[in-house]
Amino acid sequence: MTSADTLRAFKRDGRIVVVGASLAGLRAAEALRDEGFTGSLTMIGDESGEPYDRPPLSKQVLTGWVPADGTTLPRRRDVNAEWLLGVPASGLDLATNQVRLADGREVPFDRVLISTGVRARPWFVESEAALDGVFVVRTREHAEGLQRALAAGPSRVLVIGAGFTGSEIASICRERDIPVTVAELAPAPLVGALGAMIGEIAADMQRAHGVDLRCGVKVTRLEGDAQGHFRRAHFDDGSTVDADVAVVALGGIRNTEWLRGSGLAAGVWGIACDTGCRALDLNGLITDDVFVAGDVARCPNPVYEYRLISLEHWANAVEQAEVAAHNMVSGQADRWPHLSIPLFWSIQFGVNIKSVGVPTFADEVVVTQGSVSDHRFVAAYGYRGRVTAAVSFNNAKWLDHYRQLIETAAPFPPPCPTPDQPVDMKPVPVDFPGPVLLAQGATVVVTGHDPGERRVTAVQQHR
Ligand SMILES: Cc1cc2nc3c(=O)[nH]c(=O)nc-3n(C[C@H](O)[C@H](O)[C@H](O)COP(=O)(O)OP(=O)(O)OC[C@H]3O[C@@H](n4cnc5c(N)ncnc54)[C@H](O)[C@@H]3O)c2cc1C
Repeated sequence: MTSADTLRAFKRDGRIVVVGASLAGLRAAEALRDEGFTGSLTMIGDESGEPYDRPPLSKQVLTGWVPADGTTLPRRRDVNAEWLLGVPASGLDLATNQVRLADGREVPFDRVLISTGVRARPWFVESEAALDGVFVVRTREHAEGLQRALAAGPSRVLVIGAGFTGSEIASICRERDIPVTVAELAPAPLVGALGAMIGEIAADMQRAHGVDLRCGVKVTRLEGDAQGHFRRAHFDDGSTVDADVAVVALGGIRNTEWLRGSGLAAGVWGIACDTGCRALDLNGLITDDVFVAGDVARCPNPVYEYRLISLEHWANAVEQAEVAAHNMVSGQADRWPHLSIPLFWSIQFGVNIKSVGVPTFADEVVVTQGSVSDHRFVAAYGYRGRVTAAVSFNNAKWLDHYRQLIETAAPFPPPCPTPDQPVDMKPVPVDFPGPVLLAQGATVVVTGHDPGERRVTAVQQHR
């Protein structure tokens, strides 16, 4: 049989298993059927309901505008799959090509897609995390619980962590006229994702909307009352805040533990893969039958010097899923690379924030268009004299222009494309906090060596 015959037979009768039945998993399943895959398709997911969308969970669901169960992802087509929901995968055996489920079942596959995403990082003291009124926001149930707590009219909400999710939740509290304190270890909100300059703008924005913003402080303890309800938070500077609701928004943990022992290059930053979404094993070798997509993937991009990038971006999950699905049913010569420039959006304090590229891959930043004080501007990010990212506040229509600058490695700082050039177009250092702070709330993580560093360290292992 030729390899074309083998591929045809696989597309007709093969067995594909998708582990992680959410955005990336569902979009991959739809793309597999669009690609003409007629074999058996099994979707494994540890959540019990149908796949749903997460971005509204920290936005429209918390305002009460959209009910939590109104976030079900629209289906683009029938995927004709067997759904094994409400049970996590607990292991992957690449010698026998089986996914092990926590209930003891084993599901055989010819090819597997891993899209197990991220879960919320919980509060670090279990008994305090269990207090009534302490929330994280990653699932529909979390958002529903928090929305109910906000609707009850709490005296104050404490948000721990001022990344995108924490800042969006603080914004919703102000919209609902609820007093809110935001505690952030870094010097400003959003600083881990967008750097110090935008961080300062975000801080001003929060304070102007009445947020009690406390930066450079750590929450050390959550205290409850006799009924087990959260009432007070203690800070490392000795101060306290009284509140009825605490939202822990300290970023996510990638769901890779179940792959321990599988031989895949899976760890805290996700599962390493090539641009074709094929997983790498521990030796860095491509595994032909294991694919990765979405928040759990760590994928290289030539624009960013082939460094492995982990993204928690909706658009990335969709695009990567489509590339993975195509490659799962294509021969080597027809495979696609996943090379798109990352895109992200957030809405907070009446401002539509969008980014293109990887802002953390930069050494300088400059406002290129508009006015910071009007909260309508674009800032471009550069690395060693070329454009690597851009962020817009209420000015998203220009981002496609910046995407093209990034793709063509245009010189930094770029000229202003409109007459609204700011008076002072002087680049400043981008100034990201160190890795410890970054790890807490970053939605984009560039791993590998520091871009300014060109050293490899050999570690001798003594037996
Ligand atoms: C509150 C919130 C707001 C957001 N807002 C934005 C935004 O404004 N803009 C933006 O670009 N992105 C946003 N995102 C990010 C976006 O939602 C994610 O990028 C997207 O959900 C990633 O999809 P995914 O399928 O890769 O992973 P996930 O959505 O995390 O899905 C992974 C699925 O796998 C399941 N799973 C995990 N382990 C196992 C296992 N062992 N076995 C079986 N199943 C398992 C999980 O329970 C989950 O159902 C937001 C995310 C959240 C949580």
